[in-house]
Amino acid sequence: DTIPENSIRKVRDCIFSVAYPTPFISRVLLVAVSKDVLEGILDLDVSVKETDDFLQLVSGGKVVLGSIPLAHRYGGHQFGSWAGQLGDGRAHLLGVYTNRYGERWELQLKGSGKTPYSRNGDGRAVLRSSVREFLCSEAMHYLGIPTSRAASLVVSNDDVWRDQFYNGSVKKERGAIVLRVAQSWFRIGSLEILAHSGELDLQRTLLDFVIREHFPSVNMNDSNRYLDFFSRVVLETANLIALWMSVGFAHGVCNTDNFSLLSITIDYGPFGFMESYDPNFVPNTSDDERRYKIGNQANVGMFNLNKLLQALKPVLDRRQKQLFTELFRAKLGLLGESEDDNYLIAFLLKLMEDTKADFTMAFRHLSEITQDQLKELRIPQEFWALQDLAKHKFFSDWITIYLLRLGRNRGDSDSTRRKRMTAVNPRYILRNWMAESAIQKAKMNDFSEIHLLQEVLQHPFQRQAAAEKAGYSLRPPSWAKDLKVSCSS
Ligand code: AMP
Ligand code: MG
Ligand code: MG
Repeated sequence: DTIPENSIRKVRDCIFSVAYPTPFISRVLLVAVSKDVLEGILDLDVSVKETDDFLQLVSGGKVVLGSIPLAHRYGGHQFGSWAGQLGDGRAHLLGVYTNRYGERWELQLKGSGKTPYSRNGDGRAVLRSSVREFLCSEAMHYLGIPTSRAASLVVSNDDVWRDQFYNGSVKKERGAIVLRVAQSWFRIGSLEILAHSGELDLQRTLLDFVIREHFPSVNMNDSNRYLDFFSRVVLETANLIALWMSVGFAHGVCNTDNFSLLSITIDYGPFGFMESYDPNFVPNTSDDERRYKIGNQANVGMFNLNKLLQALKPVLDRRQKQLFTELFRAKLGLLGESEDDNYLIAFLLKLMEDTKADFTMAFRHLSEITQDQLKELRIPQEFWALQDLAKHKFFSDWITIYLLRLGRNRGDSDSTRRKRMTAVNPRYILRNWMAESAIQKAKMNDFSEIHLLQEVLQHPFQRQAAAEKAGYSLRPPSWAKDLKVSCSS
């Protein structure tokens, strides 16, 4: 009772600690909101953004009546080793909202100040990482990938000091807060910490809560329910990672504390979309061992699920391979199944790796080009990623088997194939250079490119004039080549 709520400490025998957001001292600017989240999830009219109450809510200035903000206690395996207590070190759960569809959404501020779990951190998030999280979580949603959502982004003039990873100096940045929402913020690490500290009754309480709230198909009266729960998490996590791979997304920090029990993408940090196909792509400059390179995410997913299993019980189901094949079949417009599909996919990925052709655009261009053009190896300028791919000496061999395989699509026409493929191969992803360009403008309080990206990324599969004008489907500008992102955020 005598301990101040937000004091940093080792916590036991609980799942949450009461912790209040720390408002910024300086004036706060509302940078952007997601209309879709406000209206579609939170039952608010987007005009609410003009009100002071809203600004207070999303910047941690005032807590709404009846809300007792909480910081969650969790642990986790970081880069392969047990890291002990981690927890919400800069996030506050404001409450749970049940919307008009009966969906239950948890509202959480990120960057809202210290909690008992802040360890050495300052409880803050800087503008650049907050812009990236705000834009990318929404972008992932519109790509059809399960993810947390972002309702709003605010920036202050409060100073936040961060190491500059490229020269080791320390620089002043501006603090920002994202209001993020998810159906649940529980992670693998939420269960791990209870197992590690032998708090098994509490673990059972949490498991039963999670199953009851989020896994309606698991029978609560079944003695096998934890195993049933686990096998669903395995399947859904495999599914999620396959989806990540299908758009070239590397999370960057696949620690068990960043892996959701609902298998949604959470905790956006030094993520990246690979530009050219490269299984060794590592978005996080601090990942020296390249543990979380894109091609290792399925393995790391297995590692994490094993840690979950250690915190629970045996038996594991592997379906990753199958899902991966299914998604890439769809990306290539293949109907039905053929024994050689895996070969066709692997062959193409090898060509991509060798030529460094742009992953996203090569698939997109394959979706837009006609079979006649492919047959004659006549690739127009606009399909620049395919032109890159075509430099490979085996390209024409691959095209030959690809066209043969397309010919085995029953009841298909070339225009329906292209329609099908453009619906699953995005034309726009949030590339680092695009986020960086928006961040540089945001630093000068010009939020226009954030708004443009927001709009564009809502329809990643549709060609849009404004996006074309901004060069979002062109080769990245030359300054973007050396762009790196780090954990410091
Ligand atoms: P992450 O790698 O971003 O998922 O963070 C790992 C852990 O560090 C989590 O427990 C975070 O809450 C905590 N953390 C990261 N940044 C900060 C910060 N600036 N202040 C306090 N805690 C932080
Ligand atoms: Mg995290
Ligand atoms: Mg984080």
